[in-house]
Amino acid sequence: MLLVSEPNLGEAEKAALTQVIDSNWITMGSKVRDFEQAFAEHHGSDNAVAVCSCTAGLHLVLAALGIGTGHQVLVPSMSFVATANCVLYVGAAPVFVDISGIDRPLMSIEDAERRCTRQTRAVIIMHYGGYLADRPAWQAFARAHDLCLIEDAAHAAGVAGAGTFGDAAVFSFYGNKNMTTAEGGMVMAPDPAVRERVRMLRGHGMSSGTHERLHVRAPTYDVTALGWNYRMDELRAAVGITQLASLAGWNAIRGELSTLYRELLARYCPEVTVPFMDIKAVSAHHLLPVVLPASSNREAVMGRMRDQGVQTSFHYPPIHQLSFYRANHPSPPLPQTEAFGCRELTLPLHSKLSTSDVEFVVRVLADALTA
Ligand SMILES: *Cc1c(COP(=O)(O)O)cnc(C)c1O
Repeated sequence: MLLVSEPNLGEAEKAALTQVIDSNWITMGSKVRDFEQAFAEHHGSDNAVAVCSCTAGLHLVLAALGIGTGHQVLVPSMSFVATANCVLYVGAAPVFVDISGIDRPLMSIEDAERRCTRQTRAVIIMHYGGYLADRPAWQAFARAHDLCLIEDAAHAAGVAGAGTFGDAAVFSFYGNKNMTTAEGGMVMAPDPAVRERVRMLRGHGMSSGTHERLHVRAPTYDVTALGWNYRMDELRAAVGITQLASLAGWNAIRGELSTLYRELLARYCPEVTVPFMDIKAVSAHHLLPVVLPASSNREAVMGRMRDQGVQTSFHYPPIHQLSFYRANHPSPPLPQTEAFGCRELTLPLHSKLSTSDVEFVVRVLADALTA
């Protein structure tokens, strides 16, 4: 079966894990700090804060920026549910924004403009599929409305510019992302004060970590804010350092496979829409999304492709249409998001696929569409 995504793990990760186990120091040590430094430098930043997931990082960022009760946060409905859940964790209200169109499933600035109110305090943009949102446009929007600008950069690890748009950004190292630590995330924020607050809230709101307490004579700590345990451990950090060293090469492979997909899809599946086709997009090429004709039955296409050994999936069921959100946080209709949500199909794309795998997937899709 050709899978939609696969982690790329090998001897280097095994060696990194063995080294941490042999060191007998498994939490809050130098690997986490080294990973933070290396990841930040890779993305053109001074420093970063490693966390146990992107979801935890988004929660911490909103808390650190003072977003809470009575505030509204603009979020794309065309995202993973965590992008909206984190807003509820801090007691604020998510306000769903439509995408630009089915050929450009990034949050629409024009629609965001319409949904701003006096309670709006922040906007979380998401780089769908790894395709970066328009940096200057969102910066101008955030400035004009005096909003915090936050990136859900879960799809965008390794792209120049990702993580540097605004007040904070969070990356994911979940198993299906471009690089992985199994579970894990990273927060970037240009303001050292925000970073330090995230760092403090990550560890129960405590004023010092285990490492510092071990290295001072009279260890003590204070708690100055309500925090959480959202730390990353040394094992994951060691895997992260190893994965980061391969990220640029893997993203280049993803880019080449995406280009091949686009050529073959245009030739053999002209009835499907390939988002970001006409855009010289800066991308981490996390996903290869296609939009099926309105007349085709997605479940049937997926079933036929599975029968031929090709797994597919969809990204995403719109958040505002999920039962929990429909019942508790109803949204006005979002026509582009809803159309994209029921027609999008995600094809296999990862760094272990070959060009002949891509040719096979397109052939199977073409057959599934005409069956
Ligand atoms: C994967 C993902 C998340 C959640 O990441 P975790 O590290 O699993 O918490 C959030 N947002 C988007 C867009 C994602 O794809």
